[in-house]
Amino acid sequence: MGKRGREIVGMDVDWLVEQLNRAYASEWLAYYQYWLGAKVIKGPMKDAVAAELNLHATEELAHAVLLANRIIQLGGTPVLMPETWAEHSPCKYDAPEDPYVTVLLDQNIAGEQCAITTYKALMDATKDKDMVTYNMALTILEQEVEHEEDLESLREDLELMGQRGSR
Ligand code: FE
Ligand code: FE
Ligand code: MG
Repeated sequence: MGKRGREIVGMDVDWLVEQLNRAYASEWLAYYQYWLGAKVIKGPMKDAVAAELNLHATEELAHAVLLANRIIQLGGTPVLMPETWAEHSPCKYDAPEDPYVTVLLDQNIAGEQCAITTYKALMDATKDKDMVTYNMALTILEQEVEHEEDLESLREDLELMGQRGSR
């Protein structure tokens, strides 16, 4: 733990660590949802979509790294037990039970929207109080916003293909 680094945080650090741990658990679930989705995916454009899902999986794992580092800097402990990820996470894990490409895209779009809400709330909570966490949340939020748009645009491509095909 960084003593002075913790002292300059102008808010309840234990509460903050709890919020960071919630986001941390979400990132692992998001990572797995993307990673597994890319493996089981079926349907049109599946290779292009799988490539994007794999890239996002990598990026979600990088978010988990940022969160774990910040939690440790603040004197906290990242969630120790994987079986509690779902309890901690504000965003649900959507199993890819139906591997059809549009179903997976819709599940992951919902996940990104939840992540965007999570990081917006973290930014609101830390604004003018903890610049380091605020800055980290902004970095992650920028990428979650990009993820949502990437998936929506693939979803739109599939939609347009379907319309043309039925004409
Ligand atoms: Fe993420
Ligand atoms: Fe994301
Ligand atoms: Mg992307």
